[in-house]
Amino acid sequence: MRKVLIANRGEIALRVIRACRELGIASVAVFSDADARAPHVREADEAVRLGPPPSGESYLRGELIIAAAQAAGADAIHPGYGFLSEREWFARAVRDAGLIWIGPPAEAIAAMGSKTAARTLAVAHDVPVVPGTTTPLRDAAEAQGVAAEYGYPVLLKAAAGGGGKGMRVVREPAEMAAALEAAQREAMNAFGDDAVYVEKYIEGPRHVEIQVLADAHGRCISLGERECSVQRRHQKMIEEAPSPAVSADLRRAMGAAAVRVAKAAGYQNAGTCEFLLAADERFYFLEMNTRIQVEHPVTELVTGIDLVQWQLRIAGGERLPFTSSIDPRGWAMECRITSEDASNDFLPSTGRIEYVRIPGGPGVRWDSGVGVGSEVTLFYDPMLAKLIVWAPTRAEAIARMHRALDELTIQGLETSREFHLRVMEDDEFQRGAIDIQWLERRLPSLVGATAPREQVEAAAIAAALLAERDRQRRTPRPANGSPSASAPDAAAALPELQPWARLARQRALRDA
Ligand code: ADP
Repeated sequence: MRKVLIANRGEIALRVIRACRELGIASVAVFSDADARAPHVREADEAVRLGPPPSGESYLRGELIIAAAQAAGADAIHPGYGFLSEREWFARAVRDAGLIWIGPPAEAIAAMGSKTAARTLAVAHDVPVVPGTTTPLRDAAEAQGVAAEYGYPVLLKAAAGGGGKGMRVVREPAEMAAALEAAQREAMNAFGDDAVYVEKYIEGPRHVEIQVLADAHGRCISLGERECSVQRRHQKMIEEAPSPAVSADLRRAMGAAAVRVAKAAGYQNAGTCEFLLAADERFYFLEMNTRIQVEHPVTELVTGIDLVQWQLRIAGGERLPFTSSIDPRGWAMECRITSEDASNDFLPSTGRIEYVRIPGGPGVRWDSGVGVGSEVTLFYDPMLAKLIVWAPTRAEAIARMHRALDELTIQGLETSREFHLRVMEDDEFQRGAIDIQWLERRLPSLVGATAPREQVEAAAIAAALLAERDRQRRTPRPANGSPSASAPDAAAALPELQPWARLARQRALRDA
C-alpha cells in the first residue's frame, strides 16, 4: 500500500493522515466546498474536491470518491467513521474497483448491518442479548404480546438503526400503538427501512464496549473495554478506558464474547462490540460497529497499540503479532468538544473560530479537525475536537482532564468545554457512579449554576481595574494630568458585562 485516499473530513481524516505518514504511505484528502481550507485538506499530500457542502453532494458521493482515488493513483480507501464507513455497497464498490478497502469485508458489514440479524448471530454463538425479538414486529398487538412476556418497560428499535434513531421507550400497553408508528416512521425516514423490533428496556445499565482487532489470517483479539455511559439522547459525550465497573474476570468474559461475535461474522480489521452491562454484572450484546470509532484513542492510550496504523497494516495483509488479549495500563479519558451550548439545551453554535489555545503538558492528546479561521457550519457533525488524557489512575486522569480543559480556550463560538469541566468536578462522576441515564438525571445540576467563563474573566478584569483606580486615587496626582481619568470607569461597567467580555477576548488574542 503506497497511497491511501481518506473518504472523510475533520479530526478522523487528520488522524488517518497521521497514521499514513508514520507508515510512509502517501495520503489523498477529499473535500466539499465548505472544507476547501480545512486542516485535513492542508495536511494531506494531495486533495480532491468532491462538490457542494451538503454531505449528499460531497462526502456521500461514493462513485466520485472512487473515481478520485483512481485518478490520484491511490491503492486503498479509508472511510473513517460516519458517512460511507458502514455502507456495504460502498465497501463492495471499492473492492470491485480494484482498490483495497480499509475495513471489514462487505459481507461482515452486511452481517452486522441489521440489529436483528446481529442478535440472531450472537445468540447462535452463545453471546447473551437483551431479551426480545429477532424478527420485525407485524403490528402493535404482537408488540404488546412480547412486552407482556418480558414485562414493561420495553424498547422499540429500528433494525437498521444507528445514532439512536427509530428508538422509543414504551412504559405501558396503551402507549404501544403510537410509539410503534412513530418508531417505524422515523426508521423509514432515516434508513429507508421501517423494520422495528422490541427488546426489554434495561433500567440503569452501563454502556461498555469491547474493541477487537482481527487480521486476514484468522487471528482475532480483544483490546479490552471502553466505558461510554455518559450519554445524552443516546449520544456519547465522555468515554474512558478501562471501565470502573469491569473486573479482570469480567473483561475476559466480555472480550471472549466479542471475539466470538466477530469470528462468527467473518470479521477483519478494527471493530467494536457494544454491550449493556447491568448492575448485577450481567452483560448483553447490543450491536457491532464495523468501523473505527470516535472513542478509539482511549484504548490506544491504555494498550499502547495504534489502532489506525493496524487498520492499514491489516488491510495490507500483515499478521497481528499479539498472541493474547492485552491488559490495560493506567487510565484514559476522552471529552468530545462540540460546538454546542450546554447551558442552552446544547443548542448548536456556528461561526468562525477566532482563537484556539490547545492544552498541552504531560499525558494530554488533542485530536482536532479545526483551527483558527475554521468556519463551523451546520452541514456536519458538531464535534470540533477530542481532548484525551492518560494518567496512572482514574482519579489522576480526572484531575488531568480538568487541568487540560482549564487550559483549553476556543473563541468565536460556544463549545461544550464548561460542561465537561462541571462533569469532572461532579462527585458522582468522580466515584464512577454512572449509567446511561446518569447524565440526563444530573444535567440540571451540572449546567444550572454555571457562570460562562467570559463573565468570570470579565469580572476579574473589572475587579483589577477597580483596584488599580483605588491605588491611583491614593497616589498624588502628577502636574500634567489625571491618571485615574485614563482608566475606564470599571464600577459603571460592572452591571453590563458584554463589553468586558469583548475586551477579555481582545486581550487573549493580542497575548497570543
Ligand atoms: P444506535 O445504533 O442507534 O446507537 P444502540 O442499540 O447502540 O442504538 O443503542 C444506543 C443506546 O441506547 C445505548 O448506548 C444505550 O444507551 C441505549 N439502549 C439501547 N438498548 C437499550 C435497552 N435495551 N435498554 C436500555 N437502554 C438501551
